Amino acid sequence: MELEFWGVRGTAPAPGAAWARYGGHTTCSSVRVGPGQYIVIDAGTGLRELGDRIMAEEGDGDIRIDLLLTHFHLDHIMGFPVFAPLFSPRTMLVVHAPAGARETESALAGLMAYPYFPLGLGRTAARKEFREFAPGPLAGGIGVSACRLRHPQGSVAYRLDAGARSVVLATDTEHPETGIDERLAAFARGAEYLVSDAMFTPAEYEAGRKGWGHSTWLAGTSLAAGSGVGHLVLAHFNPAHTDDAVDIILGEARGRFPATLAAAQGLKLGKE
Ligand SMILES: [Zn+2]
Ligand SMILES: [Zn+2]
Repeated sequence: MELEFWGVRGTAPAPGAAWARYGGHTTCSSVRVGPGQYIVIDAGTGLRELGDRIMAEEGDGDIRIDLLLTHFHLDHIMGFPVFAPLFSPRTMLVVHAPAGARETESALAGLMAYPYFPLGLGRTAARKEFREFAPGPLAGGIGVSACRLRHPQGSVAYRLDAGARSVVLATDTEHPETGIDERLAAFARGAEYLVSDAMFTPAEYEAGRKGWGHSTWLAGTSLAAGSGVGHLVLAHFNPAHTDDAVDIILGEARGRFPATLAAAQGLKLGKE
């Protein structure tokens, strides 16, 4: 199981030279399970490039995509209307979310409704199915489970398990006033990779960002240590933080949890 990042920013895209190394797209990652088979986590603006890759890679074959949405905040769904496989009759797209099937369909249809987009969701060529998320194996026998997070209007972390490989994605979450979110720590226990919300620096967080539903690299290192994961992967970067600022955050995090990486467009976890 190899997870690839297509977008690592939170809130809004961050184009420009100062954001180019980690990449400016909002949150999206994928696992290519096998020929024509994909698991995609979140549909931020990084999804557009992934869609083009899928169409180029799969030729004339059928495409099956399981899209796991953590929640419906814009930075996690903005790429959906420009996802090329959505417009192909060869695609079977199953959207899983921590909400009822109808609520999920209407959230995505609303994003493409007049006057926001020229083509309604109902007129797209892909076969589509909307499911309230339920834990279990998806394509390729990859086990997927979820954990509710502390985030305004709700969000979930997903955990993907395939044999000895495991990755937890917890991109939008805040820890309690003291200590770490023990439910999330238990959920992430022993994972090979923990992708963690690094939206705010500790100084920013203390200066008026409490209650916004996001974390710091510092909380990420405590969570990583508390859950005994192999690697901490900082992600969901603040668009106000340039690549140089992310470098500093990464260095500080490594001082507390040496096996820390920063997510970046094109980075693949589990490649080795
Ligand atoms: Zn977000
Ligand atoms: Zn959010």
